[in-house]
Amino acid sequence: MPGPGYYWIGEEEAQEVLDLINSKYLFRYGKEEDPAFKHKVKTLEEEVAKSFKINYTLAVTSGTSALITALSALGIGPGDEVIVPGYTFIASITSVVICGAVPVLAEVDDSLTLDPDDVERKITPHTKAIMAVHMLGNPCNLDRLSEIAKKHNLLLIEDSAQAFGGSYKGKRLGSIGNIGTYSFNFFKTINAGDGGMVVTNDKTLYERAFAYHDQGHFPLRMGVEIGKRSIIGQNYRMNELTAAVLIAQFRKLDKLIQRLHYLKDKFKEQIKDIKGITFRKINDKSGECATLLTVFLPDKKIADRVAKILNTTTVSHSGWHVYNNMEQLMGMKVINPKLNPLTNPYYKGSTKYEKGMLPKTDDLLNRAINISVGVVDAGLGSAFGININSTDEEVDRKVEEFKKALSQVGG
Ligand SMILES: *Cc1c(COP(=O)(O)O)cnc(C)c1O
Repeated sequence: MPGPGYYWIGEEEAQEVLDLINSKYLFRYGKEEDPAFKHKVKTLEEEVAKSFKINYTLAVTSGTSALITALSALGIGPGDEVIVPGYTFIASITSVVICGAVPVLAEVDDSLTLDPDDVERKITPHTKAIMAVHMLGNPCNLDRLSEIAKKHNLLLIEDSAQAFGGSYKGKRLGSIGNIGTYSFNFFKTINAGDGGMVVTNDKTLYERAFAYHDQGHFPLRMGVEIGKRSIIGQNYRMNELTAAVLIAQFRKLDKLIQRLHYLKDKFKEQIKDIKGITFRKINDKSGECATLLTVFLPDKKIADRVAKILNTTTVSHSGWHVYNNMEQLMGMKVINPKLNPLTNPYYKGSTKYEKGMLPKTDDLLNRAINISVGVVDAGLGSAFGININSTDEEVDRKVEEFKKALSQVGG
């Protein structure tokens, strides 16, 4: 089940796609004076840059390729450690491995985002960067993380895949660290099936990211350029079809997030005084995306029973967003053993991956249930809840279901 943007796909998206298909020209580069060239990708990049007040935006194929591009632009590679949270979608971690670097797992706190104290404990002479993941639409404690990065001379990457449209103290998520990334897959705030974006205020990083995402080319090239490729890159270019859908989705973003806030407040207001439950800490109330409402139960046993009655799971059991469930990471199963970053001769550290290595994270996730507000995704543990089109009556009905489940277990 999808994210909120899916529920609002309609006439506007159809119109954008039709406009493009009628022109027959689906490639992101073209001649500006050619009326068939609809420059949808460029338009999307410009609209996001302007609206989010970010200097440079680069559309790519996915949130994963955005992360690989961002890490590569920062020069992260063999021998480097990147601190990542133990609770995140696995791409935050695998992208580091694909770049040849070593992900170092850190605890999350009761915001279910990186615990700054544990980040400080995990810093070694090999640490190069911190990856702040704004998990479930909730901004990380960016004041603390920025301060730590500055103090230890580390780079800060914001994986904002789950928080497109969110902000922290008035600044858009993705624009606060050295570089930020978004995803536009099916489950995110807005979507085109797949898609992603890299953002930065640093011109050099943008030029490096651009070159990496398209075989070494320079930014904003029109038409086909021959020669003068600056570096060896990849092809992570977004196509015009994806951007056409995203332009229409993006123009609905503010309304979409407003609606989610309304629904989440309405749900939370009715359960906030129930004894025995607490809520996830939100690091910026007006800046969060309000895609989910996370509650903590007193212990694992109660949480498991409540989840079962609601036909959902606790976050611990929600699959590959939890480090304990990432069996390919636990065994560092790379496609070619020579690509294992832990045994790379440049690597002098001693990182390990073991189930149960993050006890604070384990305790929190064992007791947590994600109630869907905008992201209805069993893989995220949010099979129970409402969606962006839910009526007030539906909210009330789900609130009653939740209360009933709690009373059944004596909560
Ligand atoms: C979805 C997601 C990604 C990856 O995005 P894709 O578009 O699926 O490649 C990366 N990080 C986080 C935190 C995500 O939730």
